[in-house]
Amino acid sequence: MSEHIVIIGAGQAGAQAVQSLRAEGFDGPITMVGDEAYPPYQRPPLSKAYLLGAFERPRLFLKADSYYAEAGCDLILNTNAKAIHRAERHVELHDGRKLAYDKLLLTTGARVRKLKCPGADLPGVHYLKTIADVDALQADFTAGKRIAIVGGGYIGLEVAAVAAKRGLAVTVFEAMDRLMARAVSPQLSAFYALEHEKAGVTLKLRTGVEAFEGDGKVERIVAGGQAYPCDLVLVGIGVTPCDELAVQAGLASEDGIVVDQNARTGDPYIWSAGDCTRHVGREGHSIRLECVQNAIDQAKHAALAMMGRPRTYAEVPWFWSDQYDLKLQIAGLARPTDTLVQRGDPAARKFAVFHLRDGAVAAVEAVNAAPEYMIGKKLVAEGKQVDAAKLADLSIAMKTLA
Ligand SMILES: Cc1cc2nc3c(=O)[nH]c(=O)nc-3n(C[C@H](O)[C@H](O)[C@H](O)COP(=O)(O)OP(=O)(O)OC[C@H]3O[C@@H](n4cnc5c(N)ncnc54)[C@H](O)[C@@H]3O)c2cc1C
Repeated sequence: MSEHIVIIGAGQAGAQAVQSLRAEGFDGPITMVGDEAYPPYQRPPLSKAYLLGAFERPRLFLKADSYYAEAGCDLILNTNAKAIHRAERHVELHDGRKLAYDKLLLTTGARVRKLKCPGADLPGVHYLKTIADVDALQADFTAGKRIAIVGGGYIGLEVAAVAAKRGLAVTVFEAMDRLMARAVSPQLSAFYALEHEKAGVTLKLRTGVEAFEGDGKVERIVAGGQAYPCDLVLVGIGVTPCDELAVQAGLASEDGIVVDQNARTGDPYIWSAGDCTRHVGREGHSIRLECVQNAIDQAKHAALAMMGRPRTYAEVPWFWSDQYDLKLQIAGLARPTDTLVQRGDPAARKFAVFHLRDGAVAAVEAVNAAPEYMIGKKLVAEGKQVDAAKLADLSIAMKTLA
C-alpha cells in the first residue's frame, strides 16, 4: 500500500514538496491543506511589481490551477489544521475532519509580527503577507495620500519604493540607526538611505512608534514623541514562525520548528520546511531563514527524506530585494565581525560588498551587479581563500577570481 503524505501549509515550501515528491517518483496519495483562499503563490511580488500594478494576479500562482489534480494532490483550501495527534497519526482540521497520515510535512510559514501600541488596530493600519493584504492596502494606496511605513527592513522599503513611484508621500519610521540593519552592511544601508531620499521618501531613523491616533481610522502616527499626520500605515517589522501546531504536539521549537539536516523533526513521521523551521546551517549555527531559497531547497530535501533518500541540506542561502531600479542580491550569511571589501562605486549604482571571514568570502551583497553576485555566491559555496585587493579591483574580472 502506498503511503499517504499530508502537507500542512499551502505556500512556497508546500508546493515545492508536491513537485519534488512527484519528480522523484513518489506515487502515493498527497493531501495539502492551506488556510488561505488561494492555491500556493509567490509572495515576493506582493511588495514589489504586484503592488505597483505591473504584475498580473494569475502570474503570482506557482502552478496552473489544474496542476494539483493532475499531480494527484488533494488540495484543501480555506482550512486551518487545528491539531496533530501523533500517537494516532492524524491531523485534525478546524471543521472536525480528521486526516490520517503516514508521513506529515509542516510548511506553515511565518506570520507578521504585530504592533501592540495604542491605536494599532485602527482601520488603515496594514500589514503585508498575503494577496488579501495587498487588496486591502490598494484602496488607499493612491497618489497624493500620505503613507507612514513602520520598519525600514526589506518589506517596508520595497513598499516605500513602490509608494514613491505611485505618487504617495512616504515617511519611513525605523527604530534603529540605519536601514535594513539586521540584514546588510552599513555601506548598503547608507546607499539605500540616499536612494530613498532621492526618490522623495522621508526617513526617520532612531524613531520608535508609540501610538496611532484617529477618529474611526488612522489619521496620525506618534513616533519619537511627535505626531505625524497620515492617511494609511504599513507595518513591516518582521515575522514569527507558525509553530503552534508543532509545539502543541510536543515537537521542539526554538523560535522555529527544530529540524535536522534532512528537514526531519524529532518525530520520525514528521518533517518540516520553510519559514517555520530552524535548522543547523552550513556554518554549524542554528538558524531560521525567511526566504524563497530556503523554502524551496528545504522542501526538496524533505521530499527526498520522506521517500527514504535523505541528503544533507547545506545550500548557500540567497535572497534578493527590488527597490526602484535597483536589484539587491545577497548570498551567504554575514556577521558583524567580517572584514568588508567594496568593489565598485555606489555612486555608479552598481557595486558589491564582500564579507571576508578568515580570508574567504562568507557573504556577498551585490547591487545591480550580477557577475559579483554569481561569482560571489560560488566563492561562498567553495569557501576558497581570496585576495582582498584583487576582489576590490574592478579591472580584474570576477570570473578570474572564481
Ligand atoms: C511581501 C513579501 C515579500 C517577500 N519578498 C521576498 C524576496 O524578495 N525574496 C525572498 O527570498 N523571500 C521573500 N519573501 C519571503 C518568502 O515569501 C517566504 O520565505 C516564503 O514564502 C516561505 O515559504 P513557506 O512555504 O515557508 O511559507 P508561506 O509561503 O508563507 O506558506 C505557508 C502557508 O501555510 C499556511 N498555514 C499556516 N498555518 C496553517 C495551518 N495551521 N493550517 C493550514 N495552513 C496553514 C499559511 O497561511 C501560508 O499560506 C517575501 C515575503 C513577503 C510576505
